[in-house]
Amino acid sequence: MTVALRTLLDRSLKKMGKGMNPVVKASALEMVECAYTERITVQISAGHRSLEEQAALYGQGRVYSYNGKNYSNLAKHIVTNAKPGQSYHNYGLAIDFFIVSDDGKMAIWTVDSKWQRVAAIGKGLGFKWGGDWSSFKDYPHLEMTGGLSFTQLQAGKEPHLTFKLEKMEVPKTGKGDGHIISIQKTLNSRYITNIEADGFYGPKTRSALIKGLQTELNKQYNKKLIVDGKWGPKTKTATVTLKKGAAGNITWILQAALYMEGFNPGSLDGEFGGKTEAALFQYQKASKISSDKLAGQETWNELLDRV
Ligand SMILES: [Zn+2]
Repeated sequence: MTVALRTLLDRSLKKMGKGMNPVVKASALEMVECAYTERITVQISAGHRSLEEQAALYGQGRVYSYNGKNYSNLAKHIVTNAKPGQSYHNYGLAIDFFIVSDDGKMAIWTVDSKWQRVAAIGKGLGFKWGGDWSSFKDYPHLEMTGGLSFTQLQAGKEPHLTFKLEKMEVPKTGKGDGHIISIQKTLNSRYITNIEADGFYGPKTRSALIKGLQTELNKQYNKKLIVDGKWGPKTKTATVTLKKGAAGNITWILQAALYMEGFNPGSLDGEFGGKTEAALFQYQKASKISSDKLAGQETWNELLDRV
């Protein structure tokens, strides 16, 4: 059974704690709710963090003391570069999120198309996303700074933030991913799939990828599949196994599908090189299927068998 929205909101509220900026808190809940209407179950894992909590976090993987207290914790890995006062979490202006399984029981940390969609919703509500940072990407992190620096915040200034209510407009106003737009355009011109090039991955784009694959399997391998854009046992059985060195339109479809799942195959050039192999390997590991660096039936099925 799918977890109730109320449960996700309650857990998120608890994790954000007291001391949140009200606009940030409301926007976080709005994001959870908005994602839920798209059948994406997401939870907030952190919100306000005291200076002592920040010190404990900074101490992970380091020798560190703060205000005369030892926070060194070398048993753990470094998780942040922000010292106390240097994170917007310390001012109740940042949140972290993660995806949960449909039943709400399991945390899923894979940065895939769902994850990116939640980030896009958050950005539509006025958050800046840690996944957009050029160095040290922080994929769960969203913040609203109101243009204030840590120095200004430490001096007691409060940001002026406004809660954005354009909930239904998010998919239209939120800018889609440029690479996805170009994949959608290529699918339309190459396979006459007629999908909207909006930069978001969804069932229609997935179906267009399947159509492309069916078309290529018929053309190149004489498979006689019905080109219906639906994933079924016949299409699965007809797939061919690709490995490093392969090239052509089927490799391009593989690259596109990997990119949609959030695994960057390098350039979408139809050439199965080292970057595509690395992306495939990461995807296989993340999906818990055989990590053999071969795009065979199991991988094609994992990439394209969705309802
Ligand atoms: Zn964060």
